[in-house]
This record gives sequence, structure tokens and C-alpha cells, in this order.
Amino acid sequence: SGESSNEHAIGVHDQQLQQQYLRRLALRDKLKLALSAHALTVNYQPIICAKTQQIEKFEALVRWHDDQFGFVSPAEFIPIAEEFGLISKLGQFVLERACQDLGRLHQLGYEHISFSINRSINEFRTDNDQVALVTQAIAKYAIPADKVVIEITESVAMSSNHYVNDALAKLKDTGVKIALDDFCTGFSSISNLIEYPVDILKIDKSFVDNILIERNQSLLTQTLIDLAGKLDMQVIAEGVETIEQLNCLRDYGCNQIQGYYFSPAVPIDECIALLSKETR
Ligand code: C2E
Ligand code: MG
Ligand code: MG
Ligand code: MG
Repeated sequence: SGESSNEHAIGVHDQQLQQQYLRRLALRDKLKLALSAHALTVNYQPIICAKTQQIEKFEALVRWHDDQFGFVSPAEFIPIAEEFGLISKLGQFVLERACQDLGRLHQLGYEHISFSINRSINEFRTDNDQVALVTQAIAKYAIPADKVVIEITESVAMSSNHYVNDALAKLKDTGVKIALDDFCTGFSSISNLIEYPVDILKIDKSFVDNILIERNQSLLTQTLIDLAGKLDMQVIAEGVETIEQLNCLRDYGCNQIQGYYFSPAVPIDECIALLSKETR
């Protein structure tokens, strides 16, 4: 009967939920070990000038290869790290490694390059002094503060938590730049943009995917870029995969682009190779 097939469907669903749950627990345990063993790595994705296609920044993106699970996406393990109290350790590892690698680039003469580093809301929510962690790491490797960008998502920027607001204001005072990541993908309103004095707006891939396809999305993207410019913010478009998308975004006034059109995130040695090929 229909009833029994329905029961069957629920059974399968339960099994899937349980499997997901077990995978999360296994990943949590493995991630804990990987963090202690310093088994994570950091790759860097070039961010290029939309006009000249010269590299101006790199975004630090954490990478994890597990013997059993293979490459696990940060989209999967960052939320696990946040939920199970591992994000501070992970964030500290990425910050330290990124500053070390940026220091190396600067020593090689690529002093115009900035690094952009993602920070999760849970790293701000606690009373951890984010400002001290960041300033110590950049001082240790003699990096000018204005060559470091901290990427936060809207949920961080819009938090009413006073630690978060204090930390963001103090970070800005040190000269570090603040970028608003994945803008317009969650609950957001344009008024937030005016209230939060971020330096850089990152337009999410979901917009870039549609600019050449969907007229209304394209109008919204154009308007966002316009507004950001008027607010003296820089705009970076993410997930640019074709020259047509790049040309369109550049014509809209977008300053920088990042995406597979130019390069995915690569190890630091490949970053150096990419920079050495540029004629300046
Ligand atoms: P995000 O900060 O928005 O980073 C951009 C993501 O888009 C990266 O995915 C990047 O590899 C991907 N991407 C860039 N260009 C293209 C493209 O042209 N096509 C496609 N299909 N994808 C592109 P990734 O590395 O898997 O990271 C996913 C998310 O995980 C990041 O999104 C960020 O929210 C988080 N994440 C990564 N590393 C860190 C980290 O060190 N700390 C924290 N807190 N979060 C991180
Ligand atoms: Mg980011
Ligand atoms: Mg993003
Ligand atoms: Mg994202």
C-alpha cells in the first residue's frame, strides 16, 4: 500500500541522516588530529586587476587531505570546526601560515601583494582578542598592516555582539582592511552596507554565474558595484570562469576578479611562479 512505501521512504531518510551524522563525527575526530599534526595546508587564489589582469592579491584557502576521506572541502569541514570548537585553532593555523608565506613573497620583492584571510564568526564571538592575534602575526613576519585583508561574511558584520563590533573597529584602526564576503547570499539589506564601514565588497559567484544570462541579476550586480564605488569600497567578483564574465564585470566598474578563468587556489610555490611570469 501507499502507507508502507511511505514508511520505507522515511526509513531510507533516517539512514541517510544517520550516515551524515556519523560522517560529521568521524570528520570532527580526524580534523582534531590533523590540526594537532599540522596536516592542513593553505593554498592561495590569485585576485587580479579587472583591467590589467595583473595579480594584486591572493585569498588564503585552507586545504585538507585525509587518508580515508580524501580531499574534504572547507565548505564541509569549516562548519564542523565551528560547531565543535576547533575553529580558533584552525583560524590561528591559517593566519600564521598565510603571514609566513606573505612575508616570503614580500622578501622576494613582491611587496605590492596583499593576502586576504577568511575569519569565521565564532572566532569573533568569544573574548579571544582577534586584534592581538592578527597584529602579532603580521608583526612577526614584518608585513605592513594594509597588505592584509580580513574576510568576514555578513553574519559576522551584522552581529550585534559587542566583541565582534569592537574587534572589527579595532582591526580597521590597525590599518588592516576588512572585506565583506559572499555579499547578498544570506539575509542582507543594502542599508547594512552603508552602516558597516568595510573596505572591500566581494560579489558572490552566484551573481557572477548569472550576469550574462539573467537581466535582473545583471542589473542588481551593476547597481551593487555602482553603490560600492560611491561608498569608496573596492569590489571583487568571485567565481569568474570566462573572459566574457570578466569583460562584463570590468565594464560595470568592478575593480578585481578572482576565479578559475585566471587560476584556482594553488600552493605558495606556484604563486611565486605566477608572479615571476608577470612583466611589470
Ligand atoms: P569563500 O571565502 O567565498 O571562497 C571562495 C570559494 O570559491 C573557494 O572555495 C574557491 O576555491 C571557490 N572558487 C573561486 N573561484 C571559483 C570558480 O571560478 N569556480 C568555482 N566553482 N569555484 C571557485 P573553497 O576553497 O572550497 O572554500 C569554500 C569556503 O570555505 C570559502 O568560501 C570560505 O567561506 C571557507 N573557507 C576556506 N578557507 C577558510 C579558512 O581558512 N578559514 C575560514 N574561516 N573559512 C574558510
Ligand atoms: Mg572568502
Ligand atoms: Mg566568497
Ligand atoms: Mg563563499
